Amino acid sequence: MIPAEHPCLSAQAHFRYGRIHLPVAPRCNIRCGYCDRRYDCANESRPGVTSEVISPEAALDRVERALRLDSRLRVAGVAGPGEPLANPATLEILRLVRSRFPGLLLCLSTNGLVLSDALPELLDCGVSTLTVTVNTRSVVCAGHVYRAVGGSADAGAMAAFLSAQQEGVAKAAEAGLTVKINTVVIPGVNTGEIEEIACWAARAGAAVMNLMPLIPQASFRDNEPPSQALLDALRARARVHIPQFTHCRQCRADAVGVPGEMNCIGCL
Ligand code: SF4
Ligand code: SF4
Ligand code: SF4
Repeated sequence: MIPAEHPCLSAQAHFRYGRIHLPVAPRCNIRCGYCDRRYDCANESRPGVTSEVISPEAALDRVERALRLDSRLRVAGVAGPGEPLANPATLEILRLVRSRFPGLLLCLSTNGLVLSDALPELLDCGVSTLTVTVNTRSVVCAGHVYRAVGGSADAGAMAAFLSAQQEGVAKAAEAGLTVKINTVVIPGVNTGEIEEIACWAARAGAAVMNLMPLIPQASFRDNEPPSQALLDALRARARVHIPQFTHCRQCRADAVGVPGEMNCIGCL
């Protein structure tokens, strides 16, 4: 079930309620071709960007200040700047927030590589919503999208990653978590697969899907992002299988505020 007050899952909530991303997770266990976490310009708004990586204790202070400034805050999440589940600090901050602010929803974004293994601890921490980025279900396509998985770029590593992701999503949904699937739309690379991913996501128990346009950078710096018309067409096809979230703003790893408001990217 989609929590009515989660701004990344409900279109209505997007304009009414806030989330805070706690940037405690710098490391990653894979290398997406489109990922660039090198910049930390305060004006830049995109995933993987943060002004600084902070400790779980500092993150807890940040939640406290954010709640004092804005009573509409409903969600505390870890969304990077790396892979939350590749950093022990993620579980630490989730536990701290759970114990100090039990009314907040706990959320996480992940590439899914170690999701199955981490699931018992996530449930124990009280996480209720998850975003898993699934860009392809094809090993060949994965070879184009990802530079490496756990240090290896061979087809075996890609196949193991895809199957771990898919198992993680299914287990998380079965355990009662609300799962959103993020898919980065990369023209000429995975556009032909979007409907199939949507169909699989619905079967696996995901609640909603979010198609995100490629931000041309890193290995994909010379690729074109999808046009609005292409995105609309892909969303229309995917919507046949699973509801589409279309308000995503591809926020920073330290974003705070109500996503639907213009001034929501500031760091505290
Ligand atoms: Fe970057 Fe996230 Fe991909 Fe890791 S999973 S390489 S942090 S985009
Ligand atoms: Fe949760 Fe992901 Fe939204 Fe952050 S971006 S609040 S982790 S759904
Ligand atoms: Fe919500 Fe921003 Fe995450 Fe999109 S990137 S799902 S708007 S917090």
